[in-house]
Amino acid sequence: MNRYEGRVVAVTGAAQGLGLGMAQRFAAEGATVVLADVSEQALATAGSGIRDQGAGAVRTDVLDVTVSADVNAWVASVQADTGGIDVLVNNAGIIRDNRLEDITDVDWRAVLDVSLGGSFYCARAVFPGMKERGYGRIVSFSSMSWRGNFGQSNYVAAKAGLVGLTRTLALEGARHGITANAIAPGLIETPMLASMNGPARDKLTAKVPMRHTGQPTDISEAAAFLASEAAGYITGVVLDVDGGISIGSSIR
Ligand code: NAD
Repeated sequence: MNRYEGRVVAVTGAAQGLGLGMAQRFAAEGATVVLADVSEQALATAGSGIRDQGAGAVRTDVLDVTVSADVNAWVASVQADTGGIDVLVNNAGIIRDNRLEDITDVDWRAVLDVSLGGSFYCARAVFPGMKERGYGRIVSFSSMSWRGNFGQSNYVAAKAGLVGLTRTLALEGARHGITANAIAPGLIETPMLASMNGPARDKLTAKVPMRHTGQPTDISEAAAFLASEAAGYITGVVLDVDGGISIGSSIR
């Protein structure tokens, strides 16, 4: 499938995990992919891996999405280089889990700044270009946790905030050919999941109705659909990709 031929897809947090999986998938479908991440080393490896795939053009940019001036400069540079960003994937995110009373000011801010602040800065920067061209797709990363999760008040606040941001972007973009949707992953095998406390991870996995964790490809499949031309009448939704864990309690 080459449904992304001629499209420019920018993915934040693309050096590993879900971001890398999506960048590989978009490249395989013919997109020019732009990988942005704070981690210079991992980004270089990710970029050369995709180049070795032999798919479309690849650009890598060291970027901290929490710095709005850097985000603006990055978007301007990508636009000048490629002609415009068709798809923005707001994927960068971090966890700093703790019980409420043990979350420091620094850990509260850090989690909100990356997931929510970074997504806002990136969306604000790409919006004018998308409006001008009358086309855009914004896919942002919420989480199954957005409904509330023990020990994650900072992360939950950020991921619930992203749902509100997405719904508002959807309203503001609708008349300009821009859609905005969110993906709420469940437990997906990435370095972030591996960094979670083991017993907590095992307890959660046991609650997945499908009885197993997901793979980055489960997410890239969903993202490649939501960001496609074919999904043009879908906007403001939160797509759960979680093996059924968000459905609710199950007695078995
Ligand atoms: P990950 O930790 O494996 O990868 C995240 C990437 O983001 C890293 O490469 C990291 O360097 C980058 N990053 C961190 N801070 C950044 C910043 N300030 N600027 C730019 N890049 C930055 O995480 P993942 O599991 O691939 O998760 C990707 C997204 O999906 C996150 O938003 C996460 O919250 C969300 N999510 C993941 C899961 C899961 O089970 N893996 C579940 C729910 C939601």
